[in-house]
Amino acid sequence: MTEEIAVVPGDGIGQEVTPAAVEVLEAVGEFEFTEADAGDAVKDETGEALPEETYELAASADATLFGAAGESAADVILPLREAVGSFVNVRPARAYPGVDALRPETDLVFLRENTEGVYSGHENRLSEDLSTLTRVVTSSASERLAEFACEYVAEGDHDGFTVAHKANVMRETDGRFREDVLAVAEERGVDADEVLMDAFATHVCLDPEEFGVVVCPNLAGDVLSDLAAGLVGGLGLLPSANIGEENALFEPVHGTAPDIAGEGVANPTAAILSAAMLLDHLGYDEESERVDSAVTGVLEEGPRTADLGGEASTEDVTSAIVDRL
Ligand code: ATP
Ligand code: MG
Repeated sequence: MTEEIAVVPGDGIGQEVTPAAVEVLEAVGEFEFTEADAGDAVKDETGEALPEETYELAASADATLFGAAGESAADVILPLREAVGSFVNVRPARAYPGVDALRPETDLVFLRENTEGVYSGHENRLSEDLSTLTRVVTSSASERLAEFACEYVAEGDHDGFTVAHKANVMRETDGRFREDVLAVAEERGVDADEVLMDAFATHVCLDPEEFGVVVCPNLAGDVLSDLAAGLVGGLGLLPSANIGEENALFEPVHGTAPDIAGEGVANPTAAILSAAMLLDHLGYDEESERVDSAVTGVLEEGPRTADLGGEASTEDVTSAIVDRL
């Protein structure tokens, strides 16, 4: 059966890097692509940043490839993540030979809880002076994340994982998260250690090679994975995946890059690596590795886009990657 992939390029350079990722997928397999709109452009036309049919498509497709959305981003990506029932955000941050990085030895993967924590939406303005936020942590979400982390470790060449938390202060919420995650790891026989997230922030800058797979609550995962992005250099390189029970959505970490949109010079690497994560998720492990090594080769030997100090266009880089496939 041919897998159905929803393609939602969105705004800005999403329109340029998403077709590049599709071109790469076409080079390694047979998929049925269905394109749909989301973002500022469709909002201007119809009043809705996320048309119902796009939501339905993402909810029913085997996987979705998303580009970026402009000012309407929150109205697009949050419901899209919900459409795919995503409970974990997977964010690799890896330095590549040939790319300037603050910490070239960095090779990390963040597994971020994607449904609760302080992003659960329970905020209140109680008076002129006082606003509050309810932090939600459930054992079911913590354990589901931990199960995923155990499978992730078992499938890849990782020794185990580290859980980053702040259970010394947030004893009830992070205490529960920490306890549940470590309990699942022990049950599954997976090596897991723990680190306080503030200490992690310093430690990962000094010795990134001491860490591999890092499991985090929602906000910590958001902040710490951005910090790690800084260590490897270049927003144009970082992919991400939002994984749900039935389907999943893959997107570059970068946004619409309005400063370079429309010029055909955006780096397609993050979008193409997101497509490699999509392949891996659908069980095309060998194809995923081929894409990964084609990308690695081009990063090392060029051609390169301007963000990496080169002069190549999006299309030049995409063709070079496809040629290597
Ligand atoms: P948004 O609000 O959509 O996030 P932004 O202004 O924050 O837009 P980003 O897309 O987050 O822009 O990018 C931040 C900077 O990184 C910009 O200068 C942009 O040109 C650069 N950048 C981001 N992605 C890429 C890419 N794929 N190729 C080249 N440069 C990029
Ligand atoms: Mg941005």
